Amino acid sequence: MTKLLFRDDAYLRTALSSVIAHTGEGGILVDASVFYPTSGGQPGDSGTIKWDAGEMEIATAVKGPGETVVLVPAEPAGLPPLGTQITQNIHWDRRHRLMRMHTTLHLLSVVIDRPVTGGAIGTDRGRLDFDMDSPLEDKSEVEETLNKLIACNFPVSSEWITEGDLAAQPDLVKTMSVAPPKGAGRVRLVRIGEGENTADLQPCGGTHVINTDEIGPIKLGKLEKKGRQNRRVQVLFA
Ligand SMILES: [Zn+2]
Repeated sequence: MTKLLFRDDAYLRTALSSVIAHTGEGGILVDASVFYPTSGGQPGDSGTIKWDAGEMEIATAVKGPGETVVLVPAEPAGLPPLGTQITQNIHWDRRHRLMRMHTTLHLLSVVIDRPVTGGAIGTDRGRLDFDMDSPLEDKSEVEETLNKLIACNFPVSSEWITEGDLAAQPDLVKTMSVAPPKGAGRVRLVRIGEGENTADLQPCGGTHVINTDEIGPIKLGKLEKKGRQNRRVQVLFA
């Protein structure tokens, strides 16, 4: 198993780890990872690794077998040998933009109260697909409400519940296409706001900003019809 350092602290940019294995595709399986692996619509982190005898660019990270993370080198040659201690550094500016956009999409799923069928997070824009058979009635109203929620400066935190408790509260699951992140019988919930002032609470394994004030103003982009029952809503940083 890989220790998922980004899950406990999304603001961690660097860490020491060991090389556990090389994958057949030229990837580096590590015992602990600051790099978020591509999943749930959020792309894997890029960055660099350094060790005594070398350094290399990491293009992205992906999930490996079991609960593992594999770093994918930009050039699949000269990998650090098994057992090597490496220092990981992620490209923080890119990751922080992904965290801002990811948190924005949670709030978009609050403003548009329809089941989410898919989504994608980018550094400049993000989108969610909603199970919706008619177009958004008022785009500017959605944009305004979303900006108001962001400006509430909500704290963002995570907590764990048992899979049994989640099964008893199916309303918590808004995203139909992504299975809740599970591990050892527990599910991680991400809360935006606190107590009675909670704007959103849903299972998520991604990385989020610690307060919505880090997001800044956004605007709605393209609205597209994707199939009979699907509406795609794009968000951009203003
Ligand atoms: Zn999330």
